[in-house]
Amino acid sequence: SPFQQATAVQPVFVGYGIEQGNYSDYAGRDVKGKDLVILLGEPSTPEGGPVLSTDGNPTKWGVDFRAKAALAAQKGARSVFFVDYSPNSNFAKLMGRLAPRVMQPIIAAAEVGGGRAPSFFVSPALADQLLGTTAAVVGAYEKATAAAKAPVANKIKPVKFSIAAPQDRSAVSTENVLGFLPGTDKKEEILVVSAHYDHLGVIGGKVYNGADDDGSGTVGMLAIAEAFAKAAHAGHGPRRSMLFLANTGEEKGLLGSQYYTEHPVYPLASTVTDLNIDMIGRTDAAHEGKLDYVYVIGSDKLSSQLHAVLEEANQRHGNLALDYRFNDPNDPNRFYYRSDHYNFAVHKIPVAFFFNGVHADLMEAVYEAALTHELQKAGLRVETQVPLPVVYDGVRLEVGYRLDLLVEDKVIVELKSVENFHPMHAKQLTNYLKLSKLKLGLLLNFNVPSLKDHIVRIVNGL
Ligand SMILES: [Zn+2]
Repeated sequence: SPFQQATAVQPVFVGYGIEQGNYSDYAGRDVKGKDLVILLGEPSTPEGGPVLSTDGNPTKWGVDFRAKAALAAQKGARSVFFVDYSPNSNFAKLMGRLAPRVMQPIIAAAEVGGGRAPSFFVSPALADQLLGTTAAVVGAYEKATAAAKAPVANKIKPVKFSIAAPQDRSAVSTENVLGFLPGTDKKEEILVVSAHYDHLGVIGGKVYNGADDDGSGTVGMLAIAEAFAKAAHAGHGPRRSMLFLANTGEEKGLLGSQYYTEHPVYPLASTVTDLNIDMIGRTDAAHEGKLDYVYVIGSDKLSSQLHAVLEEANQRHGNLALDYRFNDPNDPNRFYYRSDHYNFAVHKIPVAFFFNGVHADLMEAVYEAALTHELQKAGLRVETQVPLPVVYDGVRLEVGYRLDLLVEDKVIVELKSVENFHPMHAKQLTNYLKLSKLKLGLLLNFNVPSLKDHIVRIVNGL
C-alpha cells in the first residue's frame, strides 16, 4: 500500500481513465506519482451504447476496472480512486462482490505487482465530497464526453484529504521440484509432465491434506518418472528429454507454473508439450463404477498432432475411456484455465490436462462459511471448528476432534456435502454430544436439491 501511514493526498480527476485510439484521458498530462480519481464505466450514448466500442458490446474499459488500474500504473500513477456515477450502479452489490477478495489475505509471486495501481472504491455519497461537486455535474461531464467521443474540458477538482490504508506483507518462500531425464536422439526437445504438490493447508482449524488434489497427480507423475527412468537404465530411454515438474503454489493462483514458465530452466522454445495431471484419485458421479476413464482437456487447442498422438498411445496402452466433455471452450467450469498447464498454454506450448472430475465434498468449507454468516446475521453467536478435547483418566487429550459449528454454546451443527448420509456421520455426532455434554446436534447435508429434507436431529438426553 502506498498509504502505510496517514498520508495527505491531492488527487487529480482523469475522467474515465481510458486510452484507446484517439480517445485519451491522459493526453498531455503527467500523472507520475499522482493519485487519480477515475470514473467506473465508459462513455455511452443515452441508450447505453458504448461509444468506443466497435461491435456494440462494452469494451474492457467498461467492464473491468483492472484494465484502467493497469493503464494508470503504466502512466506512473501512485493510486486510483474509482467512483461510480452510472445510473444503474449498485455500490453495495459491487462491494459485496469485491469485499471477500479485498479482505482475504492473498499470496502472490513477489515480482508480480506494479502491474496495476493500488485501487480504492469510493461510495457515491463520498464521491460527491471527494470530487467537490454533485452527481449532476459529473452526469453532464459524462454526457458531453459521450457526445464528443472525447474527454471534454471540465472544472471538476477533487479535494485534498488524508488516507491511511496499511497493509501487512510478509515473505513466504517455496519451491518447485524438478526431475530431468535426458532423451536420446531428440534430447534438445523437452516434454514436461507436471502436477502440483501443494494444497489448501489448514482452514478454520480443519486440515485439507489434498490426497486427491493433487497428491494423486503428484504420485502419478512420480510413477511415470520412475517407469521412464527404469526404461532408460535398461537402454530404452525416451527420444525426447523429459522434465518432471512438481509445482508449488497452484492453489494460490498457479504460482509455481507461472514462475517456471517465466524463469524456465530449459528453454521454452524447445519445450514441446506439457502433460499436466490434477486430481486423478477419485471417480466422479458421472463415472461411478467405471474406473478406467480420464477427462482430457486442451489437447486439440495448440497442436495439430498432440490430440491424435494421445488417442493412438491410449489405444495401444491402457485404453482408458477419454472423456472430452470439459474440453469445450464454453464449458462453464473453465477447467482449461484452472491448473498449471494453463501457464504453458499462455506461452503457446501445446498442453493436455488430465483429471477425474470434481466432488461435492470440496464444498464443505464454503457451506460452513456461508451458514456461519447467515446465523450471525440472524443475531446468533457462532463458533467454527471448535476443538473438542477428550478427558481420559483425568487428562485432557487433544485428539483432533473439531465441531464444525457450535451455536450459542448449545447446538452442534455438523455439515456434510455427500451423496448420502452414512451411519458413521450420526455416530460421530452422537459421540461429540456425549463428549461435550451438550444435548442437541444437527447433521446437515448440503449436496442435495433441498436442504430441508436432509437435516438429521440428534439428541443426547434431551
Ligand atoms: Zn489441483
